[in-house]
Amino acid sequence: MINMKATTKATTAWLNSEEYKEKNFAREKLVINPAKACQPLGALLCALGIENCLPFTHGSQGCTAYFRSTLSRHFREPVAAVSDSMTEDSAVFGGQTNLIEGVRNAYALYKPDVIAVFTSCMAEVMGDDINAYIGLAKHEGAIPEDLPVALGNTPSFKGSHITGYDTMLKAFLVALATERQAEKINDRLYVVPGFDTYPGNLREYKRVLKIMKAPFTLLPDNSDVVDAPNLGTYELYPGGTPLTEVKDALNAKSFLFLQSYTTMTASKYVDSKEVPTETIPMPIGIKGMDQFIQSVAKFTGLDVPDEITQERGRAVDAMTDAHQYIHGKRFSLFGDPDLLMGLVSFLLEMGGLPVHIVCTNSTTPFKKAMEALLASSSYGQEATLYPNKDLWHLRSLLVTEPVDMLIGDSHGKWAARDANIPLVRIGFPITDRVNLHRSPIVGYTGVINLITMIANTFLDDVDRNSPEATFEMMR
Ligand code: SF4
Repeated sequence: MINMKATTKATTAWLNSEEYKEKNFAREKLVINPAKACQPLGALLCALGIENCLPFTHGSQGCTAYFRSTLSRHFREPVAAVSDSMTEDSAVFGGQTNLIEGVRNAYALYKPDVIAVFTSCMAEVMGDDINAYIGLAKHEGAIPEDLPVALGNTPSFKGSHITGYDTMLKAFLVALATERQAEKINDRLYVVPGFDTYPGNLREYKRVLKIMKAPFTLLPDNSDVVDAPNLGTYELYPGGTPLTEVKDALNAKSFLFLQSYTTMTASKYVDSKEVPTETIPMPIGIKGMDQFIQSVAKFTGLDVPDEITQERGRAVDAMTDAHQYIHGKRFSLFGDPDLLMGLVSFLLEMGGLPVHIVCTNSTTPFKKAMEALLASSSYGQEATLYPNKDLWHLRSLLVTEPVDMLIGDSHGKWAARDANIPLVRIGFPITDRVNLHRSPIVGYTGVINLITMIANTFLDDVDRNSPEATFEMMR
């Protein structure tokens, strides 16, 4: 008779061995639990940030249910999106009827001022000529001729949610923004947050920009959509970047992109229209936020207000107060490129030691930038970047080369449990804790929030595991 207990124990021991890690890292054709979502999900998040915009998937209903449920679970908010429900017959005969009838119904029911059409894999594999279908829908009177429709092709057999976000943002600019005219240049700084699932971050940017007296437009801005107040009635379109400001985007005085890897196509498009653009790293940590403040101050030509200097000072004070809990601790991280750059930069500022950095969405420019960042600090010397690896690779790393903490989204909880280390949830999606998306991780406020999350998690562990003799009031 098989002794199941002994077999399970032996299998677990083998899964945790160097031998298994070697086999796991030799895997080439199979991906297990990648740290990424599909392209249309990113397009949908982008579309939620435009005023009175209805996100519309040209593709199957199941895909749309996945995007909506993932976003809803993260934000704990309803996510309005429709699809034209392509099924087997559309796969054979094409999706023209679905799209025309879909936009007809969607417009009649939900009266949007703009429709964002993006695709799921099925429509892309078939090669539907969606632009022609949209033209036909207007010609047949299914939707008004002058209704703007932004089209993003978002095939998910390549790229990820960040590619889809980028594609959709460019599509909005192409569909809505009028050509740049010298006599119509406005006085605004267009700030592009990139794929950001923290409405708290977007509110933090707006708060600081107001203090700095910078006329600005946040493009797109989904903070009031994915974090709408509960006032007793449901609003379908509760916020978003005003359409007039999207239309005037190419007349911006200047653009500031706050992520380097999620808006590359959109920033190239803006640049090609001769709009001054600047891209800075996501403002996480003191250095990151300093760069943001300097860029905004350069734009306004004004001195940095004392209020900001005070905020910075409080963040530095919080770092000093808590450095002993983070300094010398070993960390594993996984997530999107911009988030990882920011978090690693912050850890290096605190004397934390990044050890494993897993990025499923890695690219060559990101790899170079991360390696340069790690090389710039003595605290970065133990780190290895694992480009294009998944969370099953990460598990092998955690059980064979132990660290003190894992930082990443909720998908990391299994690997963290197997390695018996705490997981600090930062990233997307966070589906098993509440309210984290409401607290900024960017800016000087974000520095304090990150310290609070990381240091207090370590301290909780110390208390939980302390013997009676060292169970202290003070830590
Ligand atoms: S990967 Fe393709 S088929 Fe799967 S949910 Fe995403 S769009 Fe749909």
